[in-house]
Amino acid sequence: MIGWPFSPSGALALGAPQARTVSGLVSAYADRLDRAEQVRTRAVGSWKLSKAPLRAPAPPRKKPELATERGHITGKGLPPVITQVPTEDKVVFLTIDDGAEKDPELLRMMRELDIPYSSFLTDYVSRDDYGYFRTMREEGARIQNHSVTHKEMPRLSLAEQRKEICDQQDTLEKEIGERPTMFRPPYGAYNRDTLKAAAECGVEVVPLWTAEAFADRMEWGRGDGKLHPGDIILTHFRGKGQWGGSMTDMVRLVVRTATEQGYAIGRLEDYV
Ligand SMILES: [Zn+2]
Repeated sequence: MIGWPFSPSGALALGAPQARTVSGLVSAYADRLDRAEQVRTRAVGSWKLSKAPLRAPAPPRKKPELATERGHITGKGLPPVITQVPTEDKVVFLTIDDGAEKDPELLRMMRELDIPYSSFLTDYVSRDDYGYFRTMREEGARIQNHSVTHKEMPRLSLAEQRKEICDQQDTLEKEIGERPTMFRPPYGAYNRDTLKAAAECGVEVVPLWTAEAFADRMEWGRGDGKLHPGDIILTHFRGKGQWGGSMTDMVRLVVRTATEQGYAIGRLEDYV
């Protein structure tokens, strides 16, 4: 995974080196970048894309101020509920839920194309192989919380919701080595107790979504069938038997859609 410094075009954005050591570092960095770009260029064809995914702009120096969006539950001390990130950058975010399908080809594709994404894991479908998700994290993706058993939160008591959320915070911290900052309620269903429980477990943001990707189509939350700056795209870890395609078919569709509409796929955690 290649990080900053990038200009949006993918070119190096560095000033003149000031000293030999800096110059050496810069040239080593440039070599590494060059190799990564070569891998990426080759990958574009092998993953049947006609264009490389656009490079996300540099992350904002200061993360945007988040507020709960209209129509959602809000209150003092509760994490904001959002469906998109407030930004004018032509960037959208890919989030993958649950964790049942653990396709090694997904890891290879995201690594070769250098696409950031965030996985929201439910324990009961992920736990047979948390190693898969550790690799994912090591390769640059981020891991977030999607409950222990994938129940509809509003049907549970506050104590039960706390257990669903906090236990998965603890499990992911133990399995992945990092405590999530985000919780996405299963089915997007939540009530005030969900937000209370999430806050108590250290959750800072509750991201929902504006569009959903499948292996063969996009479903749009808005009527215009278009991406908008900061949109959060939802999809799932699913296999051929579940949606008539593979994880990599789904990614190809998302990348094509984003690229055609002039959007890069960015890292949600850079903004939120
Ligand atoms: Zn789910």
